[in-house]
Amino acid sequence: LFTAVEMAPRDPILGLNEQFNADTNPSKVNLGVGVYFDDNGKLPLLECVQAAEKAMMDKPSARGYLPIDGIAAYDNGVKALVFGAESDVVKSGRVATVQAIGGTGGLKIGADFLKKLNPSAKVLISNPSWENHKAIFTNAGFEVGTYAYYDAATRSIDFAGMLADLNAAAAGTVVVLHACCHNPTGYDITAAQWDEVIAVVKAKGLVPFLDMAYQGFGHGIAEDGAVIGKFVAAGLDIFVSTSFSKSFSLYGERVGALSVVAADKDEAARVLSQLKIVIRTNYSNPPTHGGAVVAAVLNNPELHALWEKELGEMRVRIKAMRQKLVDGLKAAGVTQDMSFITTQIGMFSYSGLSKEQMVRLRSEFGVYGTDTGRMCVAALNSKNIDYVCKAIAAVI
Ligand code: PMP
Repeated sequence: LFTAVEMAPRDPILGLNEQFNADTNPSKVNLGVGVYFDDNGKLPLLECVQAAEKAMMDKPSARGYLPIDGIAAYDNGVKALVFGAESDVVKSGRVATVQAIGGTGGLKIGADFLKKLNPSAKVLISNPSWENHKAIFTNAGFEVGTYAYYDAATRSIDFAGMLADLNAAAAGTVVVLHACCHNPTGYDITAAQWDEVIAVVKAKGLVPFLDMAYQGFGHGIAEDGAVIGKFVAAGLDIFVSTSFSKSFSLYGERVGALSVVAADKDEAARVLSQLKIVIRTNYSNPPTHGGAVVAAVLNNPELHALWEKELGEMRVRIKAMRQKLVDGLKAAGVTQDMSFITTQIGMFSYSGLSKEQMVRLRSEFGVYGTDTGRMCVAALNSKNIDYVCKAIAAVI
């Protein structure tokens, strides 16, 4: 049965992790995987999460099946976060939200639903993008192309190229957009540029799919969510995937969501019924624990405030590390202008380093980033920053 089965290539990022774990260099630093670590290099367990879990343990409950679309309080919490609890779009019932298995699950549910809805549509993702975007939409049966995004020569966004590619797309094309904190480059377009993108999406009849895996890591929860409000204000039907992996530091709980904005309440109800079929035929219904924790935090004003504070601390620490990286590289003798690192936003930096330089960083210094030059600045801390700066300076 399996004689003709080929060995699939290793996942590039997870493969890098395996290599890191096997590395015996005592100074090794893992800037490969997109995970936030605190200043002690530890994965944080947020206080708001601990408080919610303690309350749950004090009043243990049985674990029946959840509804197909997940915990209602969770879905409502997601709607409030992404669109605003008092927004017209939520109050009028135009949003269908389902709990999903991480942001990845949200993307996959949306992709499967879109394939049924419009089988001949094409999908465009940014060049470059998170590796899994292409794989998820390809596996859902779509032909996946790219729109221009990053220009390595100018170390900035090729916005004219992006608009040109969107303008050239056929009506019905699904456009996957990073709502904030673009992965892998760390470059986001401005609010004014979003307006231009929205105008093209609307004029050309494209289908916007906003991937929001880092809400709160850019400028703030509301600030990062504002782009969603712009699409809604333009009267567009949109898809939004949400991930709480990073913002709650709940990577292994697989907490995410998919929200679809429809034209009216009736349409949203019909869309929801279809999303439920996708879920039912894939994994039936979502798991309980992570969703219950996030719902408890989002719906309790005190815990919600504590979460915002803790997320704010993560955001501020990353920004401080970006500045330290720029300063440290200069101090280590790098003469070229590296200040672009503080222009970038979110957990990643496209460092501009070549594949050869990234390989040297790994083999000579045990500093792990991807071959594309992406580094996770959220894994830098006051103990490893000097070492990383010296290593980068050496390969530059
Ligand atoms: N989208 C982007 C852009 C991401 O970077 C990630 C996580 N690396 C995801 C989606 C998926 O998030 P999750 O781990 O919650 O599935």
